[in-house]
Amino acid sequence: MTDTHSCPLCTERYDDHKDLRVHLEVEHRKSELVSYLVELDAAVTDISSEREPTTVDEERPAPSA
Ligand SMILES: [Zn+2]
Repeated sequence: MTDTHSCPLCTERYDDHKDLRVHLEVEHRKSELVSYLVELDAAVTDISSEREPTTVDEERPAPSA
């Protein structure tokens, strides 16, 4: 059960991704960061499911070192 979302700006941790978003918006008011997390979450979901055909045009380098 490591499905916790930790705030990158502090040490707060939330089981629910939505709670983390609310925390960021309320405590840090980082709308850009929220968008970043949303994109990150979407990217993870995309990997676990299937690739979007819209990303075929340009392949991004793997983040693995
Ligand atoms: Zn925080």
